Formats: sequence, structure tokens, C-alpha cells
Amino acid sequence: MIKLIILDVDGVMTDGTITYDSEGREYKSFNVRDGFGIVTAIKKGIGVAVITGRHSFMVDRRCKELGIKDVYQGVDDKLEVYEMLKTKYNLRDEEIAVMGDDIPDLPLLKRAGISGAPSDAVEVVKKNVTFISSLPGGRGAVREFIDYILELNNEKEKIE
Ligand SMILES: [Mg+2]
Repeated sequence: MIKLIILDVDGVMTDGTITYDSEGREYKSFNVRDGFGIVTAIKKGIGVAVITGRHSFMVDRRCKELGIKDVYQGVDDKLEVYEMLKTKYNLRDEEIAVMGDDIPDLPLLKRAGISGAPSDAVEVVKKNVTFISSLPGGRGAVREFIDYILELNNEKEKIE
């Protein structure tokens, strides 16, 4: 059973675009269907965490809206946070799913029980994951990944 889903932000929860206005404010766009998937997973008792190398107010805002409490921004070493979450929730690697799109996500993707990538992730990431979404980042990849995990969890529930 997957008990924790860890998501990258840029290129996973968004299409990777960062827009600045003339005041230097940063904008990102999030997908409503991805959001519904995240809320559904949380309702079913699966933890959702976000780990990103960048820092932006919009991410805090979006995560708050979706009920994601574990939000780690400005992270250099994502594996360090992964290990910390593993200890915090007393989990095994097999109980963790990670979705990422670029090289900083690779150590986590290689460690987690289920690893996912959007369809437009970099090639080396796609070569190292167990699930490749048919959809790109910010366009439903997260939703498809979560639906896949929920289905797997349901099947395991039936067997156990
Ligand atoms: Mg990324």
C-alpha cells in the first residue's frame, strides 16, 4: 500500500513555466484536475508532500488550498527531505510514491516504491521510473499518477 505521495512542483504540478510581471512577481499555473486528485488521496488517508528546489509564495498558497501540510521549498538535497519524511511517518520505501520530471528528482525516484514522471519529463527521468503519465506536467499528469496509485491500493486492499 502506498501511504505517502511526494510531488515535485515545477514541471509536475505545473507545466514548468515561470512567468514574471514587471514588478518581479512570479506566477505559476496549477491544474484543477490534479488538485482534485490530491484532495481525493488525502481524503483516503494517503499523505501528500511537496518538495521543490525553488521557493515561491504561490506554492504555499496552492498547497494550503489543497490541504498539503508537508511543503518543503528551496530544497537542495531532496533525498534528505525524503528520508526525514520516511522517519516522520515511519514508512518503508515501498509505501512511498514519487513523481518528478528532472535530474534533482532522480535519487528519490530510484528509492521510492512507485516512481512516476509526466510525459514531458527529461529522458533520463523517464528511463528511471515505473510509471510514465500519458499527460504532461501541469496538464493532468499528477491526477493520472494518483488515480493509478489509488487503483493499486484498492487491489492490494482486496487481496489483504
Ligand atoms: Mg521539476
